[in-house]
Parts: sequence; C-alpha cells; structure tokens
Amino acid sequence: MKSNKQKRSEIAARKAAKREKETILAAQAARKARLEFLRSVGSRGEVPVDTTKLGSAGNSYSVPAFVERGWYVPVDFTCKACRKAETWTAEQQKWWYETAKGSLFTTATMCRSCRRKERARRDEVRRVHLEGVARKKKQSDSQGPSS
Ligand SMILES: [Zn+2]
Repeated sequence: MKSNKQKRSEIAARKAAKREKETILAAQAARKARLEFLRSVGSRGEVPVDTTKLGSAGNSYSVPAFVERGWYVPVDFTCKACRKAETWTAEQQKWWYETAKGSLFTTATMCRSCRRKERARRDEVRRVHLEGVARKKKQSDSQGPSS
C-alpha cells in the first residue's frame, strides 16, 4: 500500500514529465511553423536552392542563411559605386551560386549598370594590355632573331 506522500510525489513527477513533453512539442511546433512560413514566402519571387549545384563554402563551417532556409530571397542592397538602391533577385542569386559557382559568402555589391561599366573597364584594360603585348611581339619580330 502506497502512502499519500508517495502518491503525491508520483503525481508531481508525472506532471513534470508532461510539462517537459509539452515544452518540447511546443518548440518543435514553433520550429515547424517557422520553416513552413519561410517556405511559404515563395510567392514573393523566391526560388528554391538546389544544394547539389552549390559551389564551395570555402573554409567556413557555417551555413549561409539561404542554404538553411532552402530558398533564395530577393535582397535589397545599395550599390557601393553609385549608392543606388537595387534588388538582387532570387533568380540572379541562383545563377550566381549554382551556375557561376560563386562563393557562398559573396553577395551583390554593385548595381547592374555599375557592373556593366566595371566589366567594360576590365575588358578595356585587358585589350590595352594585349595590344601592348602584340606591339612588343611585332617589334621583336621585325628586329629579327639575329640582331
Ligand atoms: Zn551603381
């Protein structure tokens, strides 16, 4: 025969166990709801992440937010060159990380027109450099091997 004291402590233990289980379930439900929310925002132009196509994360052990989330989300940023506000779209991010294999921790820093100008500037530098190389080659050719 159990004493009243024993009965009371058993009831208390059962209650504590029930409370603990409820806390865990609540935490799981909150996490599930958060994930569902993050996945449901696909109507604002989000694109799912294909993790099999991602480039290297470098030496980092951390996971970028978009990988954890499973979706590319449009990112608003300010161009570092002209201070113009621009949006880095989900499609552009997918292309950058999955097709161009960009580093997982790089993000857009320049607007479209500044990027185009920057590319043109680099091409021009390259063209001038190649012209210089060609000119030097021509000079040494005209001088001939025996001079
Ligand atoms: Zn710009």
